[in-house]
Amino acid sequence: MKKLIVANWKMNPQTLAEARKLVSSCEHRMNTVSDHTEVVMCTPFVFLPALTHYTHHVKIGAQNISWQESGALTGEISGQQLNNFKVSHVIVGHSERRLYLGETDSVVNLKIIMALKHKITPIVCLGGDEDANKENIKTLVTRQFRAAVKGLEEREIKKMIYVYEPVFSISTMKNSEPETGEHAALMINHIYDLLESKVGRSAENIPVLYGGSVNMGNVHEYAQYPEIAGALVGAASLDPENFWKVIKEFNRESVHHY
Ligand code: PEP
Repeated sequence: MKKLIVANWKMNPQTLAEARKLVSSCEHRMNTVSDHTEVVMCTPFVFLPALTHYTHHVKIGAQNISWQESGALTGEISGQQLNNFKVSHVIVGHSERRLYLGETDSVVNLKIIMALKHKITPIVCLGGDEDANKENIKTLVTRQFRAAVKGLEEREIKKMIYVYEPVFSISTMKNSEPETGEHAALMINHIYDLLESKVGRSAENIPVLYGGSVNMGNVHEYAQYPEIAGALVGAASLDPENFWKVIKEFNRESVHHY
């Protein structure tokens, strides 16, 4: 399985020129890593038409999808609308949406169903909740996982990407504290156990990533664990050199493990 690095730009950058620069700085160098590593950049909706146009190696994803097909939902974007562009992935269940925009477990499940219906790969974040802390994170991840895959068929569960992203490790949170690689790997193994209970041994072919303050300074802490299939990167993905070093380190470990 290739390593996967996902950029979550959130509500950044502010101009299309900057967005283009972020994509092209990575795109130009991807041929040196693309045998072992894939990159997805999840950008604000407004940049999708321009960016999906000229990328070849880097895939472009969205940061949200509506739980409904169409209709009176001001400000929402449907799966079919995303299908107008080459949007390959969509982030679902991010802690910022759960915390600030009222996204519940059942809405996350509906969004996953919609993404799968429109052949967009859901990147499901597990670990974001108001009350999340180091003591209850395993219980929380278990609950969010079960709710996310509720009613899905085995083949659908296998098509998704999962991210262990404890809200207290996200760089922009107050008192943010990155996970140790060891604990991140432990939690990722827990998610693999949950997956195995649903799909059996083929769970090992499903990417489970770590997200939370990964940057060029600490990436080795995570990349050294073979069970960590890649990273979801927020702040560092807005700095081309920082992001490239994260990609290179996961790629280096991947080549090493082959
Ligand atoms: C995120 O919020 O998805 C994230 C990974 O952010 P950061 O890397 O800035 O902690």
